[in-house]
Amino acid sequence: MSMQAHTDVKYVYDHEDLILQEVLARYQLTADPRLREIMLSLIRHLHSFAREVKLTWPEWERGMAFLSKAAEWNSPQRNEFIALSDVIGLTMQVVAASQPKPPGATLPTLIGPFFVPAAPTFKNGTDISNGASGEPLHVSGRVLDTQKRPVADALIDVWQSDDRGLYDVQDEKGVWGRGRVKSQSDGGFTFWSVMPTAYPAPNDGAIGELIESTTRRLWRPAHLHFSISASGLDSLVTHIFVHGSKYLDEDVAFGVRPALVADFVAHEPGRAPDGKIMDRSFRTLDYDFILTRKGA
Ligand code: FE
Repeated sequence: MSMQAHTDVKYVYDHEDLILQEVLARYQLTADPRLREIMLSLIRHLHSFAREVKLTWPEWERGMAFLSKAAEWNSPQRNEFIALSDVIGLTMQVVAASQPKPPGATLPTLIGPFFVPAAPTFKNGTDISNGASGEPLHVSGRVLDTQKRPVADALIDVWQSDDRGLYDVQDEKGVWGRGRVKSQSDGGFTFWSVMPTAYPAPNDGAIGELIESTTRRLWRPAHLHFSISASGLDSLVTHIFVHGSKYLDEDVAFGVRPALVADFVAHEPGRAPDGKIMDRSFRTLDYDFILTRKGA
C-alpha cells in the first residue's frame, strides 16, 4: 500500500484550520442571507470553543447526551431549552441586544417558561389570584409612551408564583395568579392578587443537573411577570421584582435589572387604595410602564 498522500484529493480535513475553512465554504451556499450569517458565525464560534478547551469526544458525547435529556423533559407546560437559554444568560443577551431602549423606557427581561397565551381577561380592580395563597397585593400603574402620554386599551398580561413559589401550570387547580386587564383612557390599570415569592428553577430535569454540577445557584427572586401590548407601540415583556427579596443578586436566569426592582409597600390592616377595608396586612405596588413607539 502506498504511503504517499494523494495530492489530487481536493478536500483535506486533516488540520483544524482546513476543517473550519471547508465547513464555512459549504455553509456559504445557504440561500437565506440571515440564516447564512447566523450559521457561519455559530460554526466559527463552536469550532473555536472546541479548539480552545481541547474538547474530547467523550466530553462532547456527554454534551449531546445532556441535550437529548433536556429534549425529553419538554412538554406543553415546560420547555427545557428555554430554561437552558435562561440559566446560561443567553436569553438576557438576546433580550438586551435585540431590544435596546431609550432612557426612561421600561426595560424588558426574559419571558420565562410559564407564560400561557390567552389568559382570562378581567375588569380593572378584580382579584386575579383566584384562590392563590399569599399576602394580598394591590397593583396599580399606568401604561405611558416615552413622551409620558397615556396609552389606553393596552393589554396587560400578568402571571406569577404564589407563596409556595409555584405557578398555576405546576399544580392541578386550574388558572390562578394569571390574567389580563386593559388600561383605561388615562393609561391606568389596577388589580388585586397575592405577593409572589422566590422560587427555584425546577431541579428535576437536565437543567437541574447542570446547575447542581456547576453554580448551585438555582433560585429566582420574587417577581410579577408582565407582558404589555398596545397598538402602535413595541410590545414589552418584563418582570417587576420585589425590593428586598432574597436572591436578587443571584437570579438563576440573570433577569434582574435595577430599574425593574420596585417597592411592594407593606400596610397594616385598614383601607386599601381602592377603598376596600382589609382585615389583614397587605402590600401595594404602583408602577408605570413606559413603552416605546413602533419605529421611533
Ligand atoms: Fe417567574
